[in-house]
This record gives sequence, C-alpha cells and structure tokens, in this order.
Amino acid sequence: MIKFEQVSKTYPGGQQALRKVDFHVEQGEMAFLTGHSGAGKSTLLKLISIMERPTVGRVLINGHNLSSIKRRDIAYIRRDIGMIFQSHQLLMDKTVFDNVSLPLVIEGHTRKNIAKRVDAALEMVGLRDKAKNLPITLSGGEQQRVGIARAVVNRPPLLLADEPTGNLDPKLSMEIIRLFEDFNQAGVSVFIATHDLGLIARMKYRTLTLKNGQMITDGLDEQPNQGL
Ligand code: ADP
Ligand code: ADP
Repeated sequence: MIKFEQVSKTYPGGQQALRKVDFHVEQGEMAFLTGHSGAGKSTLLKLISIMERPTVGRVLINGHNLSSIKRRDIAYIRRDIGMIFQSHQLLMDKTVFDNVSLPLVIEGHTRKNIAKRVDAALEMVGLRDKAKNLPITLSGGEQQRVGIARAVVNRPPLLLADEPTGNLDPKLSMEIIRLFEDFNQAGVSVFIATHDLGLIARMKYRTLTLKNGQMITDGLDEQPNQGL
C-alpha cells in the first residue's frame, strides 16, 4: 500500500528532513508514525499525499511510483487517500452534510448516490442526526469525526492522519482511534502520525519512529520512547 525505498528529502533551503527512509505498510495494516517535533513526520506524510517530492529514492502508493507520476494523475492517486488533519479544516458556513459530501461532489456523483454515501459515512462516525448542523454547533470531538467522515466518504483504501487527536483529551482521543480501528477492520489501511506516546502505548499496533529524519524503530515490541 505504502512503500518507501531509500527516501531522502532535502528542502530547497538545505534542511534535510528525511534520510534514507525504508519501510512499507501492507494493504489492510494499521500503523503509527511517531517522533519528536521536527523529526520528519509531516514531510513523510506530504510525500505520500504528493504535496512534496522525494529528493532521492522512490515512494510507491498502491503500486504507483510517485516519482514518475504525471501532474495530471496526482488528483487520481489522491482519491485513494483519505486525509485527516489535526485542524479538521471544515467549511464553517456549510452544514455537516455539505462538508462530508465535498469529495463526492468533486468526483461528480449523482445527488442520490451522494445522499446515500454521506448518510453511511455519518452513520459510521455516529453523527447521522447532525447532518443539518453547522460545524460551529458541534463539540471538538464531533468536528473531528466530521473530518473523518469526509475522509472516508469516497471509500479510499488508505487513511492518512496527521496528529488527528492533537486537540482532544485522552478519552476523546481513544474514541477517534477506535473509529480508525473500525475502518481498519473493514479492510482500510490506516497510517497515523502522532507524538502522543501515551496513546500509542495503550494500543498494540506497529509503531514507526523517526528521529532527525531517520527511521530508528519499526515494530510492535520496540519501545517508541527509547532514543527520543
Ligand atoms: P515533524 O512533522 O515531525 O514535526 P517536519 O516534517 O515538519 O517534522 O520537519 C522536518 C524538518 O524539515 C524540520 O527540521 C523542519 O524545520 C524542516 N521543514 C519542514 N518543512 C519544511 C519546508 N517547507 N521548508 C524547509 N524546511 C522544512
Ligand atoms: P499542518 O502543519 O497543520 O499539519 P500540513 O502540513 O499537514 O498542515 O498541511 C498543509 C496544508 O496542505 C493544509 O492546509 C492541508 O489542507 C493541505 N494538504 C495536505 N495534504 C493534502 C492533500 N493530500 N490534498 C490536499 N491538500 C492537502
């Protein structure tokens, strides 16, 4: 699903964000990515979502080699990736329904199909009764769930989350992770970047750790807090 081969990234200013990073995440796997601030987590996610390009090495998503992909194919590849951010980036003047339907509207689905799929996505995150609400009337945890519904509404095979629990308390954070588990159990690959080691410690998932741009641990048993 995700494959990095000896990937290095140096920004134009000369800042080296990733050094010879090698890993892969299988279809249907759920894994965490951690590391202190500046370790390279956001850069790694941006390479997956084609917001940035590797300086050296290859990134493959769903079999597509992103190094050689044409500009016009970027949107097509991104359809396979549901992105979830810390700041959920909802449109505050649009209803929950309209926010969640956005990816489907862009893809040109029929209104009937959109209504059906948005309803199913809101059902999964437990917000079916809030479809007509404006985001401002929802709690922080609910707003984050709207962002998740929007990310999964076109049923991408890969969910990518950048600090999805950053603004939430431990109980709400756990609820969000449980939601990711539900999608994972339905066959979706889930890759979550977080510096919340407490959250990771409570889970039994593979954890990849970046330090100064290098992948220093990759596994279930290794303690992500070692060496940080
Ligand atoms: P993290 O997400 O783990 O905090 P980042 O990937 O954001 O790490 O940053 C890794 C390193 O790359 C840091 O030293 C950061 O300052 C640098 N960096 C990130 N984005 C840019 C950019 N657009 N231009 C230059 N340097 C950047
Ligand atoms: P942050 O530093 O807040 O985590 P990011 O660096 O992850 O933010 O993202 C910066 C901007 O790029 C955000 O406004 C986000 O909407 C946009 N962005 C990131 N990934 C994608 C993507 N795959 N498709 C479209 N926009 C994206």
